[in-house]
Amino acid sequence: MKIFPEMKEHNHEQIVFGYDKDAGLRAIIAIHNTALGPALGGTRMWSYENEEQALNDALRLSRGMTYKAAAAGLNLGGGKGVIIGDPDKDKSEILFRAYGRLVEGLHGRFITGEDVGIGVRDVEFMGTETNYVVGISESLGGGGDPSPVTAHGVYYGMKACTEEVFGRSSLEGMRVAIQGLGHVGIHLAELLYNDKVKLFVTDLHEDRVEVAVAKFNATAIPAGDIYAVDAEIFAPCALGAIINEDTISKFKFKIIAGSANNMLAEEKKHGQMLKERDILYAPDYVINAGGLINVANEI
Ligand code: NAD
Repeated sequence: MKIFPEMKEHNHEQIVFGYDKDAGLRAIIAIHNTALGPALGGTRMWSYENEEQALNDALRLSRGMTYKAAAAGLNLGGGKGVIIGDPDKDKSEILFRAYGRLVEGLHGRFITGEDVGIGVRDVEFMGTETNYVVGISESLGGGGDPSPVTAHGVYYGMKACTEEVFGRSSLEGMRVAIQGLGHVGIHLAELLYNDKVKLFVTDLHEDRVEVAVAKFNATAIPAGDIYAVDAEIFAPCALGAIINEDTISKFKFKIIAGSANNMLAEEKKHGQMLKERDILYAPDYVINAGGLINVANEI
């Protein structure tokens, strides 16, 4: 992968590679743009297949954060961190402290918090080495996990989409397919269940699906089948790039409104394909900005 041509394509300011042998840390921080303020973006931990995939994720996600802050009217720039590793197996205090020192070395150009694979406790470990973290517990002076606020924003975004497509903002009786029942997805499921929405859910973690089935009367769907569910709304709340030729051809949805960042595999091409099929797409960096607004208040 050629680094500078990649940076040139979307005008990224800086990429930082962090390594700590003892802690087993392999991390990449991408700073896209600091015109409006310091770059803020969560850190993702994921078992990337290779380094190129990790770098690509950091570059794409950091750019989305620039748009997100700007669209939400916040004086923040866009950045994102990724830690290469399995969040189910490779987490440790020394790993996150080593990462915290990497963040500290940027002297406030980058502020981070939770993302996929990273929870409040992990961010608090980072915070023992740096002040440039957000999303720590309220008992430690923070704003807590931003995910319920993100879910709240997605819920209202979904209502706005419903108003646009069906001429009514009530979600009662709608069918919604949720992909991913993590920090955001499970809160969204609860909000929708309270509105008498019929839920179809999937997750790679079986136990999370069981919770949604038991608590919210959801129907469990095998991971690969979620794209073909007969529902009005699709709420992607897992990873990005899941809207592509393969998946669009299966869609019966009228609305796509979820929390996942970078849902469109290729923005122009797949955005256009959705438009041609008359599917309303709520831009990810607008509908999922609730958590960012929450952590901006924390700062
Ligand atoms: P999370 O790690 O808590 O949950 C993600 C869930 O998705 C996990 O349960 C995982 O098992 C599941 N998953 C992954 N791949 C899947 C697949 N192929 N099929 C089904 N399930 C799959 O993450 P989160 O904090 O809930 O964030 C979800 C998405 O929302 C991410 O894209 C994140 O970047 C975005 N987002 C989160 C926030 C926030 O406040 N947490 C804010 C803005 C955007």
